Amino acid sequence: MEITVNQAKVCIVEGDITEQATDAIVNAANSGLMGGGGVDGAIHRAGGPAILEECKAIVAGQGRLPTGMAVITTGGKLRARHVIHTVGPIWHGGTEKEAELLASAYYQCLKLAAENKLASISFPSISTGAYGYPVDQAARIAVSTVVSFLENQVTTIEEVVFVLFDSRTHQRYLSALSEAMGGTQPRSPQG
Ligand code: ADP
Repeated sequence: MEITVNQAKVCIVEGDITEQATDAIVNAANSGLMGGGGVDGAIHRAGGPAILEECKAIVAGQGRLPTGMAVITTGGKLRARHVIHTVGPIWHGGTEKEAELLASAYYQCLKLAAENKLASISFPSISTGAYGYPVDQAARIAVSTVVSFLENQVTTIEEVVFVLFDSRTHQRYLSALSEAMGGTQPRSPQG
């Protein structure tokens, strides 16, 4: 599925984000930036040690990455030139500012991509794996944050791709995008 927002494309595909050829791919990292399971492990395995070296230097310089923030490194051996690492919230039932923090994670990645004059960026489904965020709610926040960023800012970003690893998650993102485009009011990221 593909739509156009303010001359930028938003696409939703099922696949492996490590194979994406966008200028950047986003990693759903953890605060220590030391790699881990899920998409984080897959990105470090595919991209090689240069990514981890830059992550270690970032943590040595600025400390652990707070939830909702993002940093950029090389893409190492990946097709993407850059990896943007962000930390999504751990789901605690919805009372710990999870929605706000998840929207912030998407927003900070887009901001960093624009500051680095990138044309395209791919996102995985941040926080919905090990971090336990309910997929339907996360999908609405992901889609509405990207759409409102593109609507409100003129940047170098021409293409945003959501790359979902399994068909259930893919379906939820398709529904969220249809909802956002169909005039049905999506849940606001701020709750
Ligand atoms: P988090 O800790 O933020 O929840 P996870 O990596 O555990 O991050 O899961 C986030 C999402 O990424 C899940 O939907 C998971 O299925 C998905 N995922 C895992 N590997 C890949 C991959 N190679 N490409 C795209 N998505 C992936």
